[in-house]
Amino acid sequence: MPPTATLEAIKAHQRKVEKDKITPDNLPSCPRCSVESQFFKIHAYRERRFLIIIEMLIKAAYCSLVRFKCPGCGKTFTNYPDFAIPHKHYTRPIIMGFSASYVESENMTYQKAVMVDSSVPGYPQNDATLAPSTIHRWITTLGSFTQTCRTALILLLQENPVSSICRDLARLIIPQRKYKTNQRKKQLIGCRQLVIIKAFFQATFKTSIFTKLAMHCAFN
Ligand SMILES: [Zn+2]
Repeated sequence: MPPTATLEAIKAHQRKVEKDKITPDNLPSCPRCSVESQFFKIHAYRERRFLIIIEMLIKAAYCSLVRFKCPGCGKTFTNYPDFAIPHKHYTRPIIMGFSASYVESENMTYQKAVMVDSSVPGYPQNDATLAPSTIHRWITTLGSFTQTCRTALILLLQENPVSSICRDLARLIIPQRKYKTNQRKKQLIGCRQLVIIKAFFQATFKTSIFTKLAMHCAFN
């Protein structure tokens, strides 16, 4: 079953925002004028609606994301917590959990991938449920974090040159019935690689690639 318990993480982030504990240190230096992120100033607080799944119901949870501004040129940067992906309402653990269950199982279909304990999570307001096409789109997004994966891999190999990760990545096979185009095949492999690299990164550096590295790579 995909991980769904992110309500605590959202609440914890909101408490940090309210106590002024969100710092710009996680952000990359300004790409326009090279000012280091520690000099960024708070620019705005944006309330974001996140979707989480609690006991098979899709529910909204709110918290603020902090935007910082470069004092050199005025460019603004959002500080994304580990559970947030730009332009996505569902939290990152939910997106990765469902996507991983599709890409990692040879016989999985999108119809089966939306199911949790043999039923599909739904919205409390109406009959709508999590759509198979949503997982298809999530995989497109996760499969495009090429720069993030590449950078994480370089760091992992620097830390442990004999790591088994390259063998693990080279072994990945996506069943042919899962794609019709080469582009889709690449996205599926990219998504699977991200899942593996993220786990190695967490085990090696005790931190998520989504706390800092992904922002440094601008979620590419
Ligand atoms: Zn700047």
